[in-house]
Amino acid sequence: MPDCLFCKIVERQLPSDVVYEDDDVLAFNDIHPQAPTHVLIIPKRHVATVNDVTDAATFSTLVVRAREIAAKRGIATSGYRVLFNCNPDGGQTVFHLHLHLLGGRPLRGLG
Ligand code: AMP
Ligand code: ZN
Repeated sequence: MPDCLFCKIVERQLPSDVVYEDDDVLAFNDIHPQAPTHVLIIPKRHVATVNDVTDAATFSTLVVRAREIAAKRGIATSGYRVLFNCNPDGGQTVFHLHLHLLGGRPLRGLG
């Protein structure tokens, strides 16, 4: 296993506030939330960045799970944002693929 923060969360070697789990995906609350809902949705299998994903299904699975969590949180209609940061200029700080789900307040701009 790579020395990876999110792999350790998947393996329960580090704690997290899990909001969804299945065989392939884990979703947990971001430790520094930028909005009332700020959930990270990750593949359990280690993939470092968007650039390293080799199958489109990985992306679609994460987006569908994000959409379901948004619906459960009651923010599907008010709206939400899903985003991947990729590599340093994209703002990525944890190099295990994760989809941010942000919502519960108006989100303006891209910052
Ligand atoms: P990024 O900047 O796209 O790589 O996002 C990494 C995210 O992981 C940030 O929003 C952090 O707040 C979040 N994060 C870092 N460590 C943890 C942790 N132990 N549990 C939950 N979220 C974390
Ligand atoms: Zn990892």
